[in-house]
Amino acid sequence: MKLAKSGRRVAVIERHSQVGGGCTHWGTIPSKALRQSVQLLADYRRHPMFHTTGGHLSVSYPDLLRGAQSVIHDQVGTRHRHYGRNGVPIIHGSARFVGEHSIEVSRAEGGAKVLEADTFIVATGSHPYHPADIDFRHPRIHDSDSILSLDHTPRSITVYGAGVVGCEYASVFAHLDLKVNLVNTRDRLLSFLDDEITDALSYHLRHLGVLIRHGESCQRVEALDDGVVLHCRSGKKFKSDVLLWANGRTGTTAGLGLEDLGVAVNARGQIEVDDRFRTALPHIYAVGDVVGPPALASASYDQGRFAATLIADGDADWRLVEAVPTGIYTSPEISSLGKTERELTAEKVPYEVGRATFRSLARAQITGHTVGVLKLLFHRETLALLGIHCFGEDAAEIIHIGQVVMAREPPGNSIAYFADTTFNYPTMAEAYRVAALNGLNRLF
Ligand SMILES: Cc1cc2nc3c(=O)[nH]c(=O)nc-3n(C[C@H](O)[C@H](O)[C@H](O)COP(=O)(O)OP(=O)(O)OC[C@H]3O[C@@H](n4cnc5c(N)ncnc54)[C@H](O)[C@@H]3O)c2cc1C
Repeated sequence: MKLAKSGRRVAVIERHSQVGGGCTHWGTIPSKALRQSVQLLADYRRHPMFHTTGGHLSVSYPDLLRGAQSVIHDQVGTRHRHYGRNGVPIIHGSARFVGEHSIEVSRAEGGAKVLEADTFIVATGSHPYHPADIDFRHPRIHDSDSILSLDHTPRSITVYGAGVVGCEYASVFAHLDLKVNLVNTRDRLLSFLDDEITDALSYHLRHLGVLIRHGESCQRVEALDDGVVLHCRSGKKFKSDVLLWANGRTGTTAGLGLEDLGVAVNARGQIEVDDRFRTALPHIYAVGDVVGPPALASASYDQGRFAATLIADGDADWRLVEAVPTGIYTSPEISSLGKTERELTAEKVPYEVGRATFRSLARAQITGHTVGVLKLLFHRETLALLGIHCFGEDAAEIIHIGQVVMAREPPGNSIAYFADTTFNYPTMAEAYRVAALNGLNRLF
C-alpha cells in the first residue's frame, strides 16, 4: 500500500487462494476469534445473572471454529478491497527467484510466468516446525495450522511447547473443560516477560486445571488407537486424545531460490537481513516472520511499511520498529512493553514500582474481570516510565495508553502525567492513575 500510494507499480504474489497471509488464515485471526468465543463462554458461566441456568451450555470446538470463519471472511474481503482500490494486482501462484531481478510464478492449476522487477520484498512468513520422526498426517497429531480443522471436541489434549502459541491454545482448551497438559521445554513460562506476570499466568492456568510441566524434552510421540502418548526424555509420559505440537516455527524459504543468488538463509529457514531489512542483495528486502523474531503480525506490518518507506522515500523512522509491545491472548491476557524488573536490576537502574490491582477498580468490579494487575516501572529520579507490564482483561489494549507516554522524550515521559490527569470513571484506564499514585507514594 505504501509503495502504491507513493506512485510505484506494485504487484503482490500470493500462493494461497485468498489474501491475508498466515495471520488471517492460520495464525492471529483464527486463534483470537476462537479465544473471544471461549471468553464469552467463560463470562456466561461466571456471571451471577446466569447462575440459575447452572452454567449448562453445550458448545463444541467445531462450533467455536465456525465463529472464526466469519471473521476470516470479513478480513479477506477488507484486504482484497484495499488492494483493488490502490491498483495493486494480486497474482496467485508460488514464486521463486530465477534471476536477480526475475521471479517465476507457478500457478496451482498449472503453467508459470516470469515477472521482472527493480525491487523485491520477501514476506513469505513461517510455518510450524515438523520433526522428521513425528507423523503429522495422523489424525491425533496436530500443529497450530491443522488444529483449526479438528472436527470434534477431544476430552484431553497435550500441548508440547509452552511458547506464546502453546500457552494461548492451552487457555482456549482449558476453558472448554478439556484436560490439558502443557509441556514446557524451558524452566518457566514465557521467560522473556516480567517474572510477576509469568507467575500469575502459571497460577491462573493451573487454576483452570492445566497441568504444567517444565524442563521437559520430547523423546518420541506414539500414536495409539485410543490416544497419543508423548514420551519425554525425563521418563514422563503424557497420554491424551490429541497432541498439539507447538514447538517452533521455520521460515518459509524452501524453494525460493535465494541461496542461488547469494542471499543467506539460516538453519531455521530465516533470511538474514540488516537493520534496514536489506538482504545481501540491496534490491531484495525481507520482512515479517521470514526474518525471525519478534514474529508478530503487528511488527511484520510495520517492517513491511518501513521497508517500503525506505524504498519510496530513502529513509524511515526506524526507532518505531524497536519499541514493539507484546500482546499475549492467554487467560489472563498479557501485555508488556519496555524493561522487566530483572533487566533493570541487572543494569543497576534505580527504579520503583507502581501497581494497580484490577480487583480494586470500579470498572473491573462491574464487569467481573477482577483478575489482573497493571505494573509501572519508573526511574526513581527522573520518574521516566521504563517498563509497563499488565495482565488481565484487555491488557493488550490498556498497554497502549502507557506506550504513548513512554514514547515521549523527557520530561514528557513521566508517570506524573497519570497522577495529574483526569480519567473517565469508571474505566480500566484509571489503573494508570492508581498505579502512578501507588508508585509515587513509595518515593522518599
Ligand atoms: C497460532 C498463532 C497465533 C498468533 N497470534 C498472534 C497475535 O495474537 N498477534 C500477533 O501480532 N501475531 C500473532 N501471530 C504471529 C503472526 O501470525 C505472524 O507474525 C504474521 O502472520 C507474520 O506475517 P507475515 O506477513 O510475515 O507472514 P504470513 O502471515 O505467514 O504470510 C506469508 C504469506 O506468504 C505466502 N507465501 C509463502 N511462500 C510463498 C511463495 N513462494 N510464493 C507466493 N506466496 C508465498 C503464504 O501463502 C502467506 O500468505 C500468531 C501466529 C500463530 C501461528
